[in-house]
Amino acid sequence: MAPRIIDGKAVAAKVELETAEGVARLASRGVTPGLAVVLVGEDPGSQSYVTMKERDCARLGIRSFDHRLAASTQQAELDALIDRLNADPDVHGILVQQPLPKHLDVEEAVARVSPVKDVDGFHPENLGRLMRGLPGPRACTPWGVMRLLDEYGIDPCGKRAVVVGRSLLVGKPMGLMLLERDATVTTCHSRTPDLPAMCREADILVVAIGRTKMVGAEYVREGAVVVDVGINRTDVGLVGDVDFDAVAPRCAAITPVPGGVGPMTRAILMSNTIAAAEVQTR
Ligand code: NDP
Repeated sequence: MAPRIIDGKAVAAKVELETAEGVARLASRGVTPGLAVVLVGEDPGSQSYVTMKERDCARLGIRSFDHRLAASTQQAELDALIDRLNADPDVHGILVQQPLPKHLDVEEAVARVSPVKDVDGFHPENLGRLMRGLPGPRACTPWGVMRLLDEYGIDPCGKRAVVVGRSLLVGKPMGLMLLERDATVTTCHSRTPDLPAMCREADILVVAIGRTKMVGAEYVREGAVVVDVGINRTDVGLVGDVDFDAVAPRCAAITPVPGGVGPMTRAILMSNTIAAAEVQTR
């Protein structure tokens, strides 16, 4: 049977409708939600992400505050900007685009953002809330994956989930979110022996490694759901970590790249901004 192609664009459009409703709700109370984006340096990938986020804000009626700083920016300057944004009542969400230039302390920057304005869900307090099963802003990419699974009626409960990648941005929170929904979770990484065999155990396989088309048919059990988080820039455009053509025929459902997880990450960021504005203006 042909696999279901999980349409991230369509689900992201649905999330955006909810966001627009949130914007209208806030407007009825005289509140315009605001998102500040801090970009340090000239990383081309980060620049294009930030530009897309600003466009999303404009389309949805969210005010965006754009702070593009030189690559030579010092920690004290970045800290002072984050402090100003924390204190600004027009700013409900703060996003410090990663990666930061190497001389800057990413842990310091992430922890400095007020937890209620942490729309990325990366603040230690918010990761702690996820770990404890408490509500709070959730990391956009894995939260977007959870929404995709829900929209397609894929219930993680009782399933064997394998997450490949253990970054703080994707892999670790992804594993916790699947666990929270009663999946049996294995997290794999670069030191995992016999990765294909481990992945073949998965009913739900989430791949977030950053290696172009590394995951081929030998990694996937017949009938599995495969979620490809990878975004790799190649001469032929954006390509995932999964070899879609080889893997898709084995799957029950699969996300494409582009058009799968990527649009969800952006949509969830906007939705987290609305939630943050609602919490701060209650
Ligand atoms: P990181 O580089 O921070 O982490 C990559 C992870 O993959 C690490 O845990 C690493 O293991 C593991 N890994 C790398 N190579 C292998 C390998 N050969 N076998 C097994 N595991 C391996 O990346 P991110 O988590 O930030 O991003 C992962 C991918 O997802 C990238 O392509 C990124 O562009 C994309 N991405 C997409 C988003 C979206 O919206 N769709 C959002 C964020 C990221 P170890 O820890 O041992 O080094």
